[in-house]
Amino acid sequence: METTSLNDHTATVSQLREWVVKFRDERNWEQFHNPKDLVSAISIEVAELAELFLWRTNQETQQDLLNAEFRKSMEEEMSDILTLFLSLSAIAKVDITTALEKKLAKNAQKYPVNKSYGSAKKYDRLPGSE
Ligand SMILES: [Mg+2]
Repeated sequence: METTSLNDHTATVSQLREWVVKFRDERNWEQFHNPKDLVSAISIEVAELAELFLWRTNQETQQDLLNAEFRKSMEEEMSDILTLFLSLSAIAKVDITTALEKKLAKNAQKYPVNKSYGSAKKYDRLPGSE
């Protein structure tokens, strides 16, 4: 695949999904991309990302994030996850921007700023929740 000059500031979600679908279709892999297996593959790739941080202290992780080899591994695992995630959104026909906007609005109701500011408590443990 040719590289482009796109980055997070200039690419759209649609462009990223087009790259992933093109890569998939050039290999005739759509036949394997059912939602169940894509979700399983996402889970496996998340585990691969988590393994990079496993048993590392927060202080060690801060150092890891400055290490080029670590960053390369992390970026590859994050890209594996995003590839599969975008494949799932294509197969399941989910407009992830719309879905994200709706979910953030729902979470804003569950986590009002005045009750959740600076708190890691789950919504049902916030003051005034039953
Ligand atoms: Mg991987």
